[in-house]
Amino acid sequence: MTHAIIARKAGGPEVLELTEAEVPVPGPRQLLVKVAAAGVNFIDTYQRSGIYKVEYPFTPGSESAGTVVAIGADVVDFTVGDRIATAEGSRSYAEYTLVDADKALPVPDGVDDHTAAALPLQGMTAHYLINSSFRVEPGHTVLTHAGAGGVGLILTQLLKARGARVITTVSSDEKEALAREAGADEVLRYSGFADKVRELTDGEGVNVVYDGVGKDTFDGSLASLRIRGALVLFGAASGPVPPFDPQRLNAGGSLSLTRPTLGHFLQNPQERHWRSAEVFRAAASGALKVRVGGTYPLAEAAHAHRDLEARNTTGKLLLVP
Ligand code: NDP
Repeated sequence: MTHAIIARKAGGPEVLELTEAEVPVPGPRQLLVKVAAAGVNFIDTYQRSGIYKVEYPFTPGSESAGTVVAIGADVVDFTVGDRIATAEGSRSYAEYTLVDADKALPVPDGVDDHTAAALPLQGMTAHYLINSSFRVEPGHTVLTHAGAGGVGLILTQLLKARGARVITTVSSDEKEALAREAGADEVLRYSGFADKVRELTDGEGVNVVYDGVGKDTFDGSLASLRIRGALVLFGAASGPVPPFDPQRLNAGGSLSLTRPTLGHFLQNPQERHWRSAEVFRAAASGALKVRVGGTYPLAEAAHAHRDLEARNTTGKLLLVP
């Protein structure tokens, strides 16, 4: 017997309970992984609360790192003892999880287990945001929200490495210090941020806004763009954005709006390899710092969700079985 978190119904963090579970058996193209750490992501809270539909009983988690302890009959690329990570697993809030071999990422030697669990989902997200949702070029000015969050800290570092000017928003002094350490050029509070962005850009506005906050920032994000700027709305930490009139894009200056999701930017092995290899290489070399802001025993998954939703966290949260 082993342990896993389950939710028997949608609800608040309290629906997450530790339960006994069978060790899962890998299918032909699957790996059985002993989880060293599981990543906590905002999407896990949307699934737990019922904003995104899932079937119950539900074990959250799509991100983990650990060691392969068994392989399916048709697996050729991995063997027992390999260290792997994934952003595309399921039921990773557990001591053991199954990972499809084609979605497993080999972990380089220079990357420890906690960094390996912290990086895949937020790292590949930051990668597709700046390369594929909107291609950031040196000299662009970019606004990102929640600059001390998991995605935010990685995004800022990748943007600075690209040669962009980064303006970010945060809610506290502690978060401001972390955003600056990651390289942000300007760190704002949310109140009146669009006006401040205009001032900082000589009235012009930014080339692109990366907005993972959603409801509370959406209008200000649109108002921060220059003519023909792009709003990349990639999350809803403050709640979903209500229905939207496309005419506002015209009025704002022939703006564009996209609402991307990671899965559509990992369409094939080449794309997955491109993104994961670049972010893992950057982490292994020390060029990209991955901040684990909180580690929780597996049994305290509810506590991690509570902290994340209360915006009490910085960087990445991990569950450690
Ligand atoms: P974060 O670590 O960034 O945590 C969310 C942060 O959002 C908070 O710390 C807080 O920072 C800010 N925030 C602002 N308003 C609220 C609010 N009302 N409630 C809670 N938080 C708020 O989380 P992640 O890095 O895991 O994810 C960031 C966003 O990116 C999420 O919306 C997530 O869904 C999205 N995402 C989207 C992906 C995609 O492919 N589309 C993939 C991965 C993540 P502060 O206190 O500074 O305001």
